[in-house]
Amino acid sequence: MDTPSLKDIVKSAEFRFNKALGQNFISDKNLLDAIVADSGVTGEDTVVEIGTGGGTLTRALAAVAKRVYSFEVDENLKKVLSVSLQGVENAEVIFRDVLKMSDAGIRDIAGDGFKVVANLPYYITTPLVMRFLESDLGVQSLTVMVQQEVADRFVAKPNTADYAAITLAIEMHGSAAVTRRVSRNMFYPVPNVDSAVVRIDVNGTKLAGENRELVHKLVRAAFAMRRKTLANNLSVAFNIDKQTATDRIVSAGFSPLVRGEALSLDDYVALSRLF
Ligand code: SAM
Repeated sequence: MDTPSLKDIVKSAEFRFNKALGQNFISDKNLLDAIVADSGVTGEDTVVEIGTGGGTLTRALAAVAKRVYSFEVDENLKKVLSVSLQGVENAEVIFRDVLKMSDAGIRDIAGDGFKVVANLPYYITTPLVMRFLESDLGVQSLTVMVQQEVADRFVAKPNTADYAAITLAIEMHGSAAVTRRVSRNMFYPVPNVDSAVVRIDVNGTKLAGENRELVHKLVRAAFAMRRKTLANNLSVAFNIDKQTATDRIVSAGFSPLVRGEALSLDDYVALSRLF
């Protein structure tokens, strides 16, 4: 027997969407399969999904992956999921807030070494991506549906308006690419923004031997006040006088008036060696 449509399941379970939890679900089978293809998940892979929702992406992932652990905060979805995930043997839904769990807690459930796939509530995008990138869990990649403007920031180039501290924070851990743009009309209910899928392939040895914390601190400082020069921002964040900050910037090979948005990750690494 075919699984009933998501709309029918939601209706018969009398499920009420919770806007505050970013509940905009996807039911289009082609789009779900495309996201799974974008993620590069194969039969060898364990997947950690964040935000099970109606379970449609969970089902599509389970059809390809070895095993799926899907985290969801809203227990009101239990009735919906008991129907939508009926017969899916290799997926488990865990009703917990993944942002409040330790690495050890996640490892106890999903083990070490997995791919993260998520159609995210937009307000947790950045903390969630950084939580997994900075974890010690052997995350191989993250494939995330995010608001289009956020996707543009994730993959921006230096000297563009979208280039931000988060661009460099992601680049410190791997490489990001937008795999597809997704119209708001593909979601149910329809949100008021368009989305994009971004895949980040993690490279655990990136910045090996460098002081990662210091590079991160420099990047955060450099973008703290975007309209100020790098020297200004660094003198505030590192509690040094402006001349000392300028001298270090010049020693690293940059103009004394350079702004943070002009520097690449390699440039920040070079600068970190003078701090
Ligand atoms: N994956 C489903 C899909 O693609 O249709 C649902 C996506 S919906 C945009 C996001 C889901 O994340 C919602 O069901 C929401 O309840 C859940 N959620 C919100 N905050 C969460 C958190 N901190 N941890 C886990 N799930 C969360």
